[in-house]
Amino acid sequence: MANVLLVDDRPENLLALEAILEPLGQTLVCAHSGEDALRQLLRHDVAVILLDVQMPELDGFETAQLIKQRERTRHVPIIFVTAISKDEEQVYRGYSAGAVDYVFKPFNPEVLRSKVSVFIELHEKNEQLREQAEQLKEQELAELRRESEERYRFLAEAQPDQIWTALPNGELDYVNQRALDYFETSFPELVETGWTQVVHPEDLGRMLDRWQIALATGESYENELRFRRASDGAYRWHLTRAIAMTDKNGAVVKWFGSNIDIHDQKRAEEAQRFLVEAGAVLAASLNYHSTLAAVARLAVPRIADWARVDVVEDGGLRTLAVEHVDPRKIELAFELARRYPENPEAEQGPPLVLRTGKSELATEIGEERLAELAQDDFHLGLVRELGLQSYMCVPLVAHGEMLGVISLVSAESGRRYGPDDLALAEELARRVGTAVENAQLYREVEERAQAARVLETVGDGVFVVDTNGVVRLWNRGAESISGISRDDIVGHRFDELLPGWERVSTGAETMPFERDGRERWVSISGVEFDEGVVYAFQDITEERALEQIRQDLVATVSHELRTPLAAIYGSAMTLNRDDLELGEDLTTRLLSVIVDESTRLTGIVNDLLLASQLDAGRLDVHIESCDARALTESVAEAARTHLPDGIRVALDPMDDGVPPVAADEAQLRQVLDNLLENAIKYSPAGGDVRLGVEAADGTVRFSVADAGLGIPASERDRIFEKFYRLDPDMTGGIGGTGLGLYIARELVRRVGGRIWVEPNDSEGSIFYVEIPATGDNRMTHMGQKAAARR
Ligand code: ADP
Repeated sequence: MANVLLVDDRPENLLALEAILEPLGQTLVCAHSGEDALRQLLRHDVAVILLDVQMPELDGFETAQLIKQRERTRHVPIIFVTAISKDEEQVYRGYSAGAVDYVFKPFNPEVLRSKVSVFIELHEKNEQLREQAEQLKEQELAELRRESEERYRFLAEAQPDQIWTALPNGELDYVNQRALDYFETSFPELVETGWTQVVHPEDLGRMLDRWQIALATGESYENELRFRRASDGAYRWHLTRAIAMTDKNGAVVKWFGSNIDIHDQKRAEEAQRFLVEAGAVLAASLNYHSTLAAVARLAVPRIADWARVDVVEDGGLRTLAVEHVDPRKIELAFELARRYPENPEAEQGPPLVLRTGKSELATEIGEERLAELAQDDFHLGLVRELGLQSYMCVPLVAHGEMLGVISLVSAESGRRYGPDDLALAEELARRVGTAVENAQLYREVEERAQAARVLETVGDGVFVVDTNGVVRLWNRGAESISGISRDDIVGHRFDELLPGWERVSTGAETMPFERDGRERWVSISGVEFDEGVVYAFQDITEERALEQIRQDLVATVSHELRTPLAAIYGSAMTLNRDDLELGEDLTTRLLSVIVDESTRLTGIVNDLLLASQLDAGRLDVHIESCDARALTESVAEAARTHLPDGIRVALDPMDDGVPPVAADEAQLRQVLDNLLENAIKYSPAGGDVRLGVEAADGTVRFSVADAGLGIPASERDRIFEKFYRLDPDMTGGIGGTGLGLYIARELVRRVGGRIWVEPNDSEGSIFYVEIPATGDNRMTHMGQKAAARR
């Protein structure tokens, strides 16, 4: 039914129109003015308007114009109803105001009805057309929607990842084939169970929680989960994402989701992290056993459910460390190793790796394989309990030498080791090997440093010469013995600086060298090694000199003893002869030779004895106050009794004020006797020997001067050394033991005095002996101290 608007200011006219149009069966809407008409048009959809021209306020034309201005009513046909003017101008105005027709009063009801009904029909036709157009549009849209859905599904099917969509309540309504294949399931099955059957039990709770939150809020969903791949039963990490599509009111229409396999990437990241951590642990330890145990701990549970480290010992393997995710099973593993020691000829596991030096990977250990491995039923039971799934064994090598085997086993986690895992394990083993090498290197460096410290402290000279003959090391001992500083020799050619030494190879050799213009001797030996020769040397100059002295002593003493012995023997034999008539005079002379030579012998033997007592510190000294003057006179007196020809012994004039000395009188006498004897002995051409004594600054100085052979300046210190004698060429073969002056020096020293020699004015020597005077506290004190030392 259509609406017809009747506009007239007069109610009777409206009534008349209603009466006429009623038979048309349409809804008649009446308006009493132009304004009223406009109002009605706002409320009703109108098929045609019957408009009175003459109305107060807004007349018909003005009303029509306003109707035409409105978009909604622009096309509504208007029939003007008028009684007044039929002239053309009026009619024209009506048409220009938008009229489609005119009816003039009085009008024929038939005509009016038919005119109105034409417009109603037209309106209905228009309505029909509009509806049809709308329906058509609806259909087209549906088709478009279907097409676009098909397109995105096609797109989804083409994806390498799992793609799915879900209804606003979360129920799956589409899953791509890729996902169905991955889980080896059908769409209805998956809709039934959702993801709960394929997600790792540990990740299930987290998945449900987050999905619920997403469904409740419409916010996007993201999660990292392990899904079980049907083909091998392995749980692999996936990144799951879903975003909601909403309508224009913000309500969720659909969820679009994807599961992306990030397992390899995640494992690579984990492996990298693991290696970094392992590196830190390895670098921190220098003890390789503890390092290996730490590695086992690190591997569990990150790359293995249990880990075992075996080390090579005596050609076999010893289990060093076992780590297990379940600590109770560690004991079980050890027990297993104890009870069933691995057969070194086994075709798998650590023994195989030890023999071949190659890694072993067992991706899947089935029941059959277990039965093969087990040595008996009980063993099988234990092994089953460990729940082996997959394992890998990698060799541990350092410096090209096999150190052991790392075994990584998967059990509870159900993981299967593949080539990637093996690569990781091998990398780990490689790093362990490097760490062990580093630790060894560190120890070597430490040892070397220690050796270097020792080298610095030993007294022996040690040096290293490389294969090119260049000195590479020169220790402090070498510096102090040779007087050559390290800077002057290291880096230089050895044979240039120490000619002749390079001939030393192995075995000790004695070599001379010059230092400060004097000849010194070293005992040197060398040991060859890869990089050159290590030499060690000692300064044996002193020992050599001593050895020389010893040799000289044997010669001297035997010579010295032989001369008197020969004389005694000769005299005695002569006296004993029956065939010879010896006169009184000769007998007396022979007897006195025996007495004199015996005395000389006794003297030599006494000197030897005394020297050895002095050396051993066993000589008693009795310090007392002695009269220096009386002593000197007595010594001179005694000497005069048996002077050789041409020798005179004289006393220098003596002061009365010479103080007594603090000394052992007998020993001091021996010193002076000896000096006097030497003075006489070393004046073969005769001459004066003078004895003197004088006070000198708290001491008493004795002097024995001769005009004899004299002593070269260079020898003036050395003559006091034990067994030291001047060259026989200089002394004209005068005999002696070289002990006299040594004994004199030692005795003088013991009472805090000193002894030295100076050249005499013209020729010969003057020996001085200085002894502390009794009154002098300092000297007494020193003397006592000296006495205490003995
Ligand atoms: P010896 O038994 O040889 O005399 P000494 O120890 O008494 O031993 O003397 C050591 C050396 O000093 C002697 O061998 C001698 O060469 C030298 N000597 C000692 N006294 C004199 C001296 N008065 N004049 C020259 N040389 C002397």
